[in-house]
Amino acid sequence: MQGNINVQTENIFPVIKKFLYSDHEIFLREIVSNAIDATQKLKTLASMGKVQGDLGDLTVEVKIEKKKLIISDRGLGMTAEEIEKYITQIAFSGAEEFLEKYKDKGENLIGHFGLGFYSAFMVADKVEIVTKSYQDAPAMHWVCDGSPTYEMKECKKDDRGTDIILHISDDCKEFLEEQKILQLLKKYCRFMPVAIRFGEESEWVDKLDKNGEPVKDKDGHTERMEVKKPRVINNSDPAWRKKPADLTDEDYKKFYHELYSMNFEEPLFQIHLNVDYPFNLTGILYFPKVRKTIDPNRNKIQLYCNQVFVTDSVEGVVPEYLMLLHGVLDSPDIPLNVSRSYLQSDGNVKKISAHISKKVADKLEDMFKNNREDFEQKWDDIKIFIEYGMLTEEKFAERAMKFTLLKNTEGKFLPLEEYREKIAPLQTDKDKNVIYLYATDVEEQHAYIAQAKAKGYDVLLMDSVLTPHFLNMLEQKIDKSRFVRVDSDVVEKLIPHDETIPEKMSKEDQEKLKPIIEGELDKQKYTVMLEALESDAQPMIITQNEFMRRYKEMSQTSGGGMGFYGEMPESYNLVVNTNHPLIEQVLGEDDAEKQKQLVHQLTDLALLSNGLLKGEALTNFIKRSVEIIK
Ligand code: ADP
Ligand code: MG
Repeated sequence: MQGNINVQTENIFPVIKKFLYSDHEIFLREIVSNAIDATQKLKTLASMGKVQGDLGDLTVEVKIEKKKLIISDRGLGMTAEEIEKYITQIAFSGAEEFLEKYKDKGENLIGHFGLGFYSAFMVADKVEIVTKSYQDAPAMHWVCDGSPTYEMKECKKDDRGTDIILHISDDCKEFLEEQKILQLLKKYCRFMPVAIRFGEESEWVDKLDKNGEPVKDKDGHTERMEVKKPRVINNSDPAWRKKPADLTDEDYKKFYHELYSMNFEEPLFQIHLNVDYPFNLTGILYFPKVRKTIDPNRNKIQLYCNQVFVTDSVEGVVPEYLMLLHGVLDSPDIPLNVSRSYLQSDGNVKKISAHISKKVADKLEDMFKNNREDFEQKWDDIKIFIEYGMLTEEKFAERAMKFTLLKNTEGKFLPLEEYREKIAPLQTDKDKNVIYLYATDVEEQHAYIAQAKAKGYDVLLMDSVLTPHFLNMLEQKIDKSRFVRVDSDVVEKLIPHDETIPEKMSKEDQEKLKPIIEGELDKQKYTVMLEALESDAQPMIITQNEFMRRYKEMSQTSGGGMGFYGEMPESYNLVVNTNHPLIEQVLGEDDAEKQKQLVHQLTDLALLSNGLLKGEALTNFIKRSVEIIK
């Protein structure tokens, strides 16, 4: 029998070839998954009692034979009518319509319009189907050379099932290379639900004699020998398809390493997703150890559709802040092979993304409640996800307020509310704001931290790249709260109370003092401020306004919109303690040279304790200090 595929489809093959050019390796996924589908359908029929007898070995086989690539299954097969209906007609119904619609987005064709089978023509100039149905019907042979005509006749085939024979075209020879096919099978078919065999692999085993005893060489070592065995390229029962209750922590780790064989790190913990209403979703997401550097291109989350690999770019499906998690997601409700913008507007995909976010919040809250110590230990690795999540997703932020931890410079952790209760008595200012003091670097800000601690204050360590944004958000979420870095003011003023320290120096003297100090400083960078502080506080202290510094930092990490702050020059305050005896001494010094040296020495010390004294200025300071000691 001969036939025409459909007059309207005359130009379909050029379209397939051209638009799918970039991604034509997916033909293998399409053909193999059809074989798997046919096998699964057969199993279902058997379980309903509609197929009698032993089903036999159901392994799908992929073979390279000269210029042919052959995919064989022992699934349900097709009758002549079924070929007619499912291959010839269905695939091309509405062809004109989709050509119009998807002219520019070739990738959308596949899977969407049942063109899966025809993707074979991306790489083959002739395709044959040899098939025998499980029903009592003659075996059929169908051939199509890519033109809109095909030929179909009865043939001889002993076994139930289907062989798809692709005559690989000359410009696609790579698909006749064993390594290429192996790589593609590993990429797309690695977790398909029916065993897939491709060639053989060697295994080294102990050599045994006819009595089954190991054969020894002259040194007494057991001899080894190579045996060939069928190479099964997939794990048809991957962990994410199992029930969480049936898996141990070890099983999850094992699966992690199966997924990312080049990654030797252990994951921190995982979340096993298992939903069937209102959408279907399974998967395992792993939290990796994330310190300062992260490579977003390694160990990406893989997206599957019924165990068929689709993609590892999961934008839209996974909330942005969770993109750096590892693992797999599997959902038949995520459209296969569609563009990103389509994904983002798809209702199911949005629901899936929200569900994932909720599950992550559930898990974190659980960990926080059930094993706080363990949660604290993991905190430094997961805080970046939590901070990012809170900044980008309002719902997640609400949930996370319960389990967000603050870590102080002594390494102690407390959740937000408990921390507030702890510091409120000493760290509430005159306007009833609770002041959270923090440092971003324990070494660099040591002097300031020490002073704050001497006052009985607690100092947090906030050293993430997102810290400035994160603090801003917390200030909005927690009523009457302010975050202040320890070096943003002199310790007496970090938490403004009502009492003032009596001033010893007269206004007149202050006016004399100011220009003397200013003379020794870069006026663009430093503003001199006279303050009456405790006489045993430092004579001079460098501070930097919290607001200015934070906004400058925020503009550096967010880019755009806040450029103004980013371009502001670095500026600091030099606070001079007018109650300090050394400052009185500066004022009382008659010898101009000596006065200058004293001021210089004091400003340098202040700069030094802020880490701002560098280069030549530092060298000069050291020289001068040695002179003074002599
Ligand atoms: P889809 O898989 O989305 O239905 P395809 O174009 O991939 O679309 O396949 C079209 C139809 O051809 C399938 O639905 C199935 O009925 C039939 N078919 C394809 N390959 C096989 C096979 N190996 N065994 C049995 N039927 C097959
Ligand atoms: Mg298909």
